[in-house]
Amino acid sequence: MGRGFFNVPTAVNEPVKGYAPGSPERAELLATYNAMFNSNIDVPMHINGEEIRTGNTKNITPPHDHKHVVGQYHVAEKSHVDAAISTALAARQEWSSTSWTERAAIFLKAAELLAGPYRAKMNAATMIAQSKNVHQAEIDAACEMIDFFRFNVQYMTDIFKDQPASAPGIWNRVEYRPLEGFVYAITPFNFTSIAANLPAAAALMGNVVVWKPSDHQAYSAQVIVDLFKEAGLPDGVINVIYGDPVMITDTALASPDFSGLHFTVSTHVFKNLWKQIGNNIHNYKTYPRIVGETGRKDFIWAHNSANPLQVATAIVRGSFEYQGQKCSAASRAYIPASQWEAVKKHVIAQTNELKMGSPADTSNFVNAVIHEGSFDKIASFLEAAKNDTNAEIIVGGGHDKSVGYFIEPTVILAKSPTYATMTTELFGPVMTVYVYEDAEWEASLKLVDESTEYALTGAIFSTDRYIVEKASKELENAAGNFYINDKPTGAVVGQQPFGGARASGTNDKAGSAQNLLRWTSVRLIKETFVTPTDYKYPFLG
Ligand code: NAD
Repeated sequence: MGRGFFNVPTAVNEPVKGYAPGSPERAELLATYNAMFNSNIDVPMHINGEEIRTGNTKNITPPHDHKHVVGQYHVAEKSHVDAAISTALAARQEWSSTSWTERAAIFLKAAELLAGPYRAKMNAATMIAQSKNVHQAEIDAACEMIDFFRFNVQYMTDIFKDQPASAPGIWNRVEYRPLEGFVYAITPFNFTSIAANLPAAAALMGNVVVWKPSDHQAYSAQVIVDLFKEAGLPDGVINVIYGDPVMITDTALASPDFSGLHFTVSTHVFKNLWKQIGNNIHNYKTYPRIVGETGRKDFIWAHNSANPLQVATAIVRGSFEYQGQKCSAASRAYIPASQWEAVKKHVIAQTNELKMGSPADTSNFVNAVIHEGSFDKIASFLEAAKNDTNAEIIVGGGHDKSVGYFIEPTVILAKSPTYATMTTELFGPVMTVYVYEDAEWEASLKLVDESTEYALTGAIFSTDRYIVEKASKELENAAGNFYINDKPTGAVVGQQPFGGARASGTNDKAGSAQNLLRWTSVRLIKETFVTPTDYKYPFLG
């Protein structure tokens, strides 16, 4: 549309609602939760806007009450994946040339619908499917998703405004074209907002998408589909497929039209997919973009100038919120010996106060971990720690899967900085502490930097600016999101763009212009107004 240079509404972060007793939002959310928990949802796949029901279904069960079935979702055969790809490519013809204003309007509308009529439903679905308490659901499924939509629209226009200079007599301009083909989005269970953003960021930039949500997020994924539909997203732009991740991925990556992977999963899966894309490289029409956020072993490091209560609070909040299943959750800490007794006292006191149970009871800080596989893995590490002289469980350690997959928030004291839980990614509420001699603080920074292959988030605590500067330099590559005197979780779109490097991902920062740029391919257009007619340059004379 060439009839104006339009400004989009200035993006602002969605205010987080408090859900205090007696508040209207609390009453609405809990009523919605109860209604959804006690009904049965049938989640289809979505190809070209049609609901696809294969009859081959799997149950949806809340992690905190795994015998209770809240619905089922339908899984794909290979033919459905092929159909999703060809549908996306057909939809591309119109979508890729639709004015950016129309695309912006769809996602701005989605943001407003989610801020209003969809808020309780999206939060309740996330509480049920992914076992998030009210606050964790609100900051993820409502606020972060709204922020992704609003800020991405603003970043898109910022990108479009970035234009080259033009020398006299010519006009240079760049177009930010969508990729030629389709984008394949594979999303994790742990953030409903990430599940929405991975396909939406690519679609906003004019791409068409095949989206494979996590099986453990199907309930809230369906609410995202409803939201996009009501916001006006045309059929076929984002097609949703459930089922065997290997079959779906093999089919998507075998297509010559595969042009990008937008992905949040574990490191080994991502590395294998990178290899698979490399093996297929001769088949593709274009070099695919590969964007991945992967595993992590996020750290808290404290100097003896830090405040022990602040360090302890960061450990409790940073490690145990959402059962340690945030990508940014801390799971290893390095504490100076002179501070350990004070930090330990506060950590034990605060952790013992945390209530655990269903998100329906809003006094519960901790809910269940996502599934039995995760529960069993974490429990096995806790049992090993109980029987290992190199480890001591100082609080927590209990686990029970009889009703839900409940793991007590646990702090392990490790005698070695390379003890298993200091270095292995566990997706659960387990923090391991290594206590170092105060004088060895510089060596302890090396441990932080070199003990794992990951580099997603990390936090340092000190009141000494020389130490803060030194640690920041020493840990320059140890975290993509680096926090000074704060817990390493809670990144906000528009304020702390999120992502890590090394084995934690390609660091293309979700919720930033850098990420959106990956879903475009620039065309430079140079136009010359008085075109030369003589080949001779002056120097030839
Ligand atoms: P997961 O690896 O079990 O599954 C995530 C997605 O990948 C799902 O959709 C799943 O079906 C799919 N998948 C699994 N195996 C696959 C395969 N072989 N081929 C293709 N797809 C496959 O991860 P999860 O439990 O949902 O999420 C946790 C993981 O994601 C952790 O490793 C975590 O660190 C990572 N994560 C990272 C960030 C980040 O910002 N770096 C954010 C969130 C999650």
